[in-house]
Amino acid sequence: MRILLVEDDDLIGSGVEAGLRQAGFAVDWARDGRKANLALATTAYALVVLDLGLPGMSGTEVLRALRSGGNDVPVLVLTARGTVADRVDGLEAGADDYLGKPFDLIELLARCRALLRRSQGRGAEQIRYRNLAIDPGAQSVLRDEVRVALTAREWAVLLQLITHQGVPQSRARLEESLYGWQEEIESNAIEVHVSNLRKKLGADLIRTVRGIGYVVEKA
Ligand code: CA
Repeated sequence: MRILLVEDDDLIGSGVEAGLRQAGFAVDWARDGRKANLALATTAYALVVLDLGLPGMSGTEVLRALRSGGNDVPVLVLTARGTVADRVDGLEAGADDYLGKPFDLIELLARCRALLRRSQGRGAEQIRYRNLAIDPGAQSVLRDEVRVALTAREWAVLLQLITHQGVPQSRARLEESLYGWQEEIESNAIEVHVSNLRKKLGADLIRTVRGIGYVVEKA
């Protein structure tokens, strides 16, 4: 899953970026509001972590522009200006949650996961597919009622394929959801995730569409 981090402070930004990466997320880091705006216009993110105090265009302005454009990606707002008025401003501009600086990285990760669970579970009931039960809200998969452990990236590939049944997904589309701007993509990374998913969930779950990518056929 791909997260946009918007933070102008190098120290905080690099700490949050490293923490999110370690937790298995793909992270794009924008250091000012205009870059954030551009990234949001061109890339689909699962979550945005947004500092409010930014040079040029403020976080609140980024958020208002995002919401007025109809984008409902979950947004976790970070701010050093921890007054009640600032918090209300952020929430009124369309933030889903709020964290005052200084914050603990563990708490930030927990808030991110909670927002992702909420947004992925929104309207998405458990998906039954053959002998699999996939719960987007809880990020869990049962195979023949037995829980299967997936890595964050395997989970992202599975979710992309299972929510587009019958529609082949290109490698580029799958990679986009897994990797940030700076990350080097191993040329066979998607193949490795697909191969692991086949081992864990069933050899015939994901079909290779030659020259295009992969598909989970309609149930
Ligand atoms: Ca700042």
